Amino acid sequence: MTVLSATAPGSIDRAAQILQSGGLVAFPTETVYGLGADATNDTAVAAIYAAKGRPEFNPLIAHVADLDALSPLVRLDDRAAMLATHLWPGPLTLVLPRAPACPVSLLASAGLDTLAVRIPNHPVARALLRATGRPVVAPSANLSGKVSPTTAQHVADGLAEKVDLILAGGRCTVGLESTILDLSTPTATLLRPGAVTLEDLSALIGPVAWHGNAATDTPIAPGQLKSHYAPQLPVRLNALTATTTEAHLTFGPTLSPQSPFILSLSDTGDLTEAAANLFAHLRTADSFPCTGIAVMPIPETGLGVAINDRLRRAAEPRS
Ligand code: AMP
Ligand code: MG
Repeated sequence: MTVLSATAPGSIDRAAQILQSGGLVAFPTETVYGLGADATNDTAVAAIYAAKGRPEFNPLIAHVADLDALSPLVRLDDRAAMLATHLWPGPLTLVLPRAPACPVSLLASAGLDTLAVRIPNHPVARALLRATGRPVVAPSANLSGKVSPTTAQHVADGLAEKVDLILAGGRCTVGLESTILDLSTPTATLLRPGAVTLEDLSALIGPVAWHGNAATDTPIAPGQLKSHYAPQLPVRLNALTATTTEAHLTFGPTLSPQSPFILSLSDTGDLTEAAANLFAHLRTADSFPCTGIAVMPIPETGLGVAINDRLRRAAEPRS
């Protein structure tokens, strides 16, 4: 791990290069320090979950420098445009429908058709996003279950060797995670309260729904997200072999090559690679003319815990 002052000559360019090559960079935003990765790189996004030790795949927020960088990612409606004009850059995250050719990793959306986006208002974050030239996913730079970091030292204490570079830029001014507003449905819904208040929002776009459950870091547990992606096809777990009509999601060497629909999560049994492929493969399997999706066993260690959590949800009987 390297710590560089964000004002040291060349530090922003160095950080941008690390992000572009798939590395992890912690950087200050006005809310908290974020653990950044190239949002378009599945493996880099998977590395975030591994570094944080998250036991499930919560969707992540994609950060960009300006509206021009946002338009290829999501569909902005009138409400979003209004909020963008008045409250961005700032501590507000909008959940919007993904654009048809959205380049952001499906893993960052936890397989959903929506994407959470934000334009932060911190000079270091903005300079880094501009220099990187790609959307950057950046959950709080702490181990899962620990308090969000508001100084570079907090990041170093928690993540130390798990991050390639920490850009040190002083203390975060807001110190609270961003307000999250879901605009993917006709009713605007506050998902997480933050520095931008319900009143600020409704003054601009009218009534905003809020279902309580105040001040938690994750207002909706990922599994409770109503729109959480579930494959159409039934899912069978711990399947060492597949039938000829099943898609087979394999992990490690394939034991039964009879399925014409093999999708390898990782030939070498690499959990980061498997996480990077998971949501894309589930979607591909759904598009096959198959009767179901058989999944080889995944070890319940490291990222395997989050992968298995997601697979168990996918395998639950549907109503
Ligand atoms: P953070 O850990 O501060 O990066 O916040 C990420 C949180 O944003 C997640 O835990 C979700 O609660 C929320 N979120 C991100 N993307 C979405 C989405 N597409 N739909 C609903 N909530 C989202
Ligand atoms: Mg957090």
